[in-house]
Amino acid sequence: TVHLLPDLHVCHLYLADITERKQAELRLVRQALQDVVTGLPNRRLFRERLDSSLGHLHSYCAVALIRPDRIKLVLESQGYAASDNLISAMAKRLMAALAEHTTLAVDLFRFEGATFGLLVTQLTDARELESLMQRLQAAMLEPLMVEEREFFFTLSVGIAVSPEHGSDAETLFKNAEAAVNRIRAEGGNGFRFYTQDLSERTEQWLAMEQGLRRALERNELLLHYQPQVNLHTGEIIGAEALIRWQNPERGLVPPMQFIPLAEETGLIVPIGAWVLRTACLQAKTWLDQGNDLVMAVNISARQFQHPGFIDLVEEILAETRLPAQHLELEITESVAMHDVERTTATLHALRQVGIHLSIDDFGTGFSSLAYLRRFPLSKLKIDQSFVRNLSVDEHDATIAHTIILLGHSLQLTVIAEGVETKDQLDVLRRLGCEEMQGYYFSRPVPAADLSALLKEGRRLAA
Ligand code: C2E
Ligand code: MG
Ligand code: MG
Repeated sequence: TVHLLPDLHVCHLYLADITERKQAELRLVRQALQDVVTGLPNRRLFRERLDSSLGHLHSYCAVALIRPDRIKLVLESQGYAASDNLISAMAKRLMAALAEHTTLAVDLFRFEGATFGLLVTQLTDARELESLMQRLQAAMLEPLMVEEREFFFTLSVGIAVSPEHGSDAETLFKNAEAAVNRIRAEGGNGFRFYTQDLSERTEQWLAMEQGLRRALERNELLLHYQPQVNLHTGEIIGAEALIRWQNPERGLVPPMQFIPLAEETGLIVPIGAWVLRTACLQAKTWLDQGNDLVMAVNISARQFQHPGFIDLVEEILAETRLPAQHLELEITESVAMHDVERTTATLHALRQVGIHLSIDDFGTGFSSLAYLRRFPLSKLKIDQSFVRNLSVDEHDATIAHTIILLGHSLQLTVIAEGVETKDQLDVLRRLGCEEMQGYYFSRPVPAADLSALLKEGRRLAA
């Protein structure tokens, strides 16, 4: 059982006996220690509890900072009342997953989103914490219902354990913060214990953020293109634009090392616009040279949810004179399923413009089939994790087959990502997959190299 402000509940019992003035005083105490929206302890009470458990030297205690991924974005878009309801629903869900000797607190900085603080006392074993974290994450698998809309969240959690990671509250907070920032920088959805090197890494990330801010103006970003191939004709039918960062000190930096940071800092919005413009321009060039290609561009959460996104796409199409049907936008399942009402509206508006839409990394998230059916999609991209062992692992082959059948039942084209071997290709063909993309045919390459492939008419052998 989790005791929510037990001292204040006790106060309630006596409320009837005391004077109005006393009641008013109690209300003030309550307000000073309790978050008004959720009724959870606030930072001040959390700190008091932490200090008092640090005073008991006979057992470990841990501080975990819990940040729902993308919460800031959602709160910004929802208005105050819905935000409050959302945070309350989340607080309830988290409370229900907790165990004894824990205190859950919340700190709402309107413009920073929400951070939950979790204090776990009387710990005997770090494994207890791991199972607690797993319970918390499992608790978020079901969507939160707010005003009849469904919201899916994942959590990023950073943990510092006393005395190993600090013996005073300040240090524990700081270290838990470093751990949660790291998780978020890696894309979120996970938990992490503090380690010494995290403080150093935090420094590195700050330096990287500054570098990334300047990367655009210094022309350090570039795109590589990976051909997509039709499995029946063997022809190149499209290309996916994949960003790289030519960093003066670090060399060619792959996207997974800076896109999460760009997403976190909001830099993804100008960077994403640059990607879209550059890719459309390139597609138009190839088109004018007689290549009938579709250019696929990855869109991250923040870009997709940005209020100006649809206008931006239209603007860039007009500016580059690329016909809309030659552009395809890839979003991941988690982006699509995050706020399905809004996703549905955005996707329909984009489809109206004439562009194609696909779901990237399909099979790794939690798609609601009911919604999938309502989205105006053209394509499912089977995630490479299922392709990797396709020819050796029957289980993976079954998953791939299921995705292909699902795609077909929704009248979608199915493309397999990360195809590296002939064996994988053969299995995919046998399973009725239409398209492929992967090292087996070509790695992502600079535009000039893909131009050369197109010119020589390179095909996949039948
Ligand atoms: P993704 O969209 O799923 O892209 C496919 C990734 O798989 C690419 O990694 C690609 O180089 C790699 N890949 C392709 N064929 C093979 C193969 O046969 N074997 C293996 N092992 N890998 C293969 P990359 O370029 O490092 O990109 C990683 C992720 O970064 C992308 O995953 C995408 O989510 C993101 N990303 C890339 N460019 C952009 C961008 O312009 N904007 C945004 N928002 N995200 C981007
Ligand atoms: Mg992609
Ligand atoms: Mg993918």
